[in-house]
Amino acid sequence: MSLSPERTFDVAIIGAGPAGMTAAIYCSRGRLSTVVLERGIAGGQMALTELIENFPGFPDGISGFELADRMKRQAQQFGAEILEITAVSTIRPEADATYTVVTDQENVRARTLLLVPGVEARKSGIPGEAEFIGRGVSWCATCDGALYKGKQVAVIGGGDSAIEEGLFLAKFADAVHVIHRRDELRAARITQERAFANPKMRFIWDSVPLRILGENAVTGVEYQNVKTQELATLPVNGVFLYIGQLPNTGFLQGFVDLDPNGYILTNELLCTSACGVFAAGDAHTTAIKQIAWAIGEGALAAIQMEKYLDSLECATPAPWPVEQPAQAGGKDQRPGKANKTSQLNTDSTT
Ligand SMILES: Cc1cc2nc3c(=O)[nH]c(=O)nc-3n(C[C@H](O)[C@H](O)[C@H](O)COP(=O)(O)OP(=O)(O)OC[C@H]3O[C@@H](n4cnc5c(N)ncnc54)[C@H](O)[C@@H]3O)c2cc1C
Repeated sequence: MSLSPERTFDVAIIGAGPAGMTAAIYCSRGRLSTVVLERGIAGGQMALTELIENFPGFPDGISGFELADRMKRQAQQFGAEILEITAVSTIRPEADATYTVVTDQENVRARTLLLVPGVEARKSGIPGEAEFIGRGVSWCATCDGALYKGKQVAVIGGGDSAIEEGLFLAKFADAVHVIHRRDELRAARITQERAFANPKMRFIWDSVPLRILGENAVTGVEYQNVKTQELATLPVNGVFLYIGQLPNTGFLQGFVDLDPNGYILTNELLCTSACGVFAAGDAHTTAIKQIAWAIGEGALAAIQMEKYLDSLECATPAPWPVEQPAQAGGKDQRPGKANKTSQLNTDSTT
């Protein structure tokens, strides 16, 4: 759909993951003109998850793709415009208290913004990782798993993402070798139980990958035991890496305050350091990274945006004093103080 340049919306939402789409449902249902800008396809990380079993209302689980599609249709049905394949590159504050959102397609203006760009997989930086992207190196089993039918794959990591994705790969691969730097997994107990019960899942403990091997495509991974320092090579056709996540906030540098890891700083009502700009979901300083949580925050942010549009009063003083060292006995008393909440940012999915 084509928008005329400088068309102004009440609300612009950057990112169409569960947080963004929930906010879009609330805002458009509340009769606010709402646009969602998404650099890929609506759904975010959720859309890449094969089966979601912990989202209430679906006792048999639901595919992430289907849940994403339902949320998208629900937002559109109330009038939200979801612009896919539209990457936001920067945001410009205007003199009339609106914001211009600059994208690689067309620019839009909005009176209030919600930043929900989520996170992406952290790269390991080991030799071979960049060279073999698309030729055996992947971060998405749901996307690439079917290519490994009858083959051997390595999964790097021991959190929820690694083990869930490993179990998915086991549907195709002959064997899934989990290489984990510790001697126990961090994944949820139920996921661990399934992994240990699956004969295709093998575990290489206390080990880190050093190099991904191959010529035209991946043929193996060299790894080292961190306790014995022993080196070994595992012949595999694919390597799936789940070693953590990074927030997609590069385009927000200098626009809102970020914590030292790049997560957007907010108070407990999801206000950022910029007036009328809110943030939610995995990309801000949040306690957990889960769909149910992202959805709750999307709802909270939508209601805060509605209140802001009614009053145009800025709830959070800006700029946020992130760099100031805490003084003895003189902590910042504002609710949801930024550097307190930033410590909560745990990686619950990796
Ligand atoms: C493998 C895996 C399995 C998971 N399984 C579960 C599970 O079973 N249950 C559960 O509750 N949670 C699960 N999670 C976590 C869950 O998916 C996330 O917590 C949730 O998707 C976060 O939602 P979000 O809206 O904050 O961000 P995201 O889902 O990350 O969406 C952010 C969106 O913003 C877009 N974006 C980023 N930058 C820009 C830009 N500059 N311009 C435009 N768009 C941009 C991205 O393309 C993306 O679509 C899983 C995660 C992974 C990786």
